[in-house]
Amino acid sequence: MSERLFKTNWVKFSDYEISYGRIKPKKGSKMIHYDPIAESEKFKKSSNTVYDQIYKIKENNQTDLKEWLRFAKKWGLPCTLLHNVDEIILAPRYLAFQNSQISETVRDHLTNKMDKVNFIVHNFEYEVTKLNSKIQWVSEKNKKLLNKYRVQKVNYFESDLNPNDPTDLNWPYSNVVHLCPQQLIYKYFNGKWEIRTNFLTVKKLNKKAKPGDIIDKKNVVEGYLTPGYFKITDSINEDNDEIETLSVSISSTGKRKFNPFYLGKHFISNYRNKKIETVYDYPHEFTKYFPGMLQDETSEEKHARNIEEFFWPFPVSEKFHRNYAEEGYELGVLAINIKMFFIRLKEANKHIRLLKNKNEKNYPNRYNIIYRDLEKSLIKFTSRLLLTFSKDKDRKYSIYSPSLIGYIGHIILQDITSKYSPRFCIECERLISNPAKPDSPYCDDSTCGNRHRVRRTRKKAKLKKLLDKKEISKKVYINKLREID
Ligand SMILES: [Zn+2]
Repeated sequence: MSERLFKTNWVKFSDYEISYGRIKPKKGSKMIHYDPIAESEKFKKSSNTVYDQIYKIKENNQTDLKEWLRFAKKWGLPCTLLHNVDEIILAPRYLAFQNSQISETVRDHLTNKMDKVNFIVHNFEYEVTKLNSKIQWVSEKNKKLLNKYRVQKVNYFESDLNPNDPTDLNWPYSNVVHLCPQQLIYKYFNGKWEIRTNFLTVKKLNKKAKPGDIIDKKNVVEGYLTPGYFKITDSINEDNDEIETLSVSISSTGKRKFNPFYLGKHFISNYRNKKIETVYDYPHEFTKYFPGMLQDETSEEKHARNIEEFFWPFPVSEKFHRNYAEEGYELGVLAINIKMFFIRLKEANKHIRLLKNKNEKNYPNRYNIIYRDLEKSLIKFTSRLLLTFSKDKDRKYSIYSPSLIGYIGHIILQDITSKYSPRFCIECERLISNPAKPDSPYCDDSTCGNRHRVRRTRKKAKLKKLLDKKEISKKVYINKLREID
């Protein structure tokens, strides 16, 4: 077999376990990268591709998490969180940076010496080059000067974090580490997760700060971003047929909704006891994926603050996947979506076949509705999938998806556009995901074909009898004959 030009990459662990209704990687298990599309192809003959397996779990009505555990051991977790989230904003911290103008930085990457690490703390300043070429530093606060002297704002501040794990605070190993207030943003952009940094100026600089130390938001002069995450609440993804759905173009990634990590206080009054309780609201739909990451706090308020200030792992890092757990509910929703897609496909095929037989006048309109529904249910999977060029030598070209769901969508897409596209047997209505014959509407088992032909012949004979007895007109006879599937 020739080498495939495009590769895909997904993460799984050597072992998983069930804990508190969630599936998570077992402690000490190994992280494995694999190609889900190539792997799925291996199982095509036996109709055991990744979506076949999910479909079967659903079809057998398996609500048992053990089925999903078996699935995770084979394919990893689908990662529904990253399929719907495209930006994570973290709380401000003192973090390492580089500046080509600061010469004290002596890197110890080769010697790996960890001893005597000094931290020098800086406030963020703009380096300003005046017209007479004198260099002046301007802080965020005095930024107005930039315009006054018609000077150019140049800064060489560059984040000096581990690109694979920005939460790794022992990196880099250098003699002198320069720290500056920064706010990290993880952003899914053009098919890749990126680490972006927002340099901040603070009112009071903590000269004794250590890497990772939290900065109070009240201390930030300007440019503070509320920590939280953006969730794609694409109306295409909703099963409503409101007018707004029509205005969303297919290429659009949909609507994004910001959700702060700190949801604040709520007061709940108890009518009977007339007691007023303070309740802290958590962004549960985010935190539930990381059950072991947040430590139990003494108070609810502390816990709520902890979520806001937590140094959330970078979505492509090992730390992220190792701590990521998925609930049976999310997996069930994925299975329903896969099943719904094929049911829609089946219904669409049936309708179109009948429309063709009947030769109806309002063809285009009916077709549009049928195809739009199909389109919507497929976009649920493929909306986050993008073609990227991987830096990895091993993977020259790659198709990147932030979740396994995108790859599943791609496999479905590949299959339904092939000559041997999946179909439902028109007799027994079972899904045939890998038909042996390109044009057969039946299971490969010949009984269904025979049974269906016999049934059709009988129906036709019955109609003919009615016509012969003059119980129906010729016109009705022709119409009824067309409806026989
Ligand atoms: Zn059949």
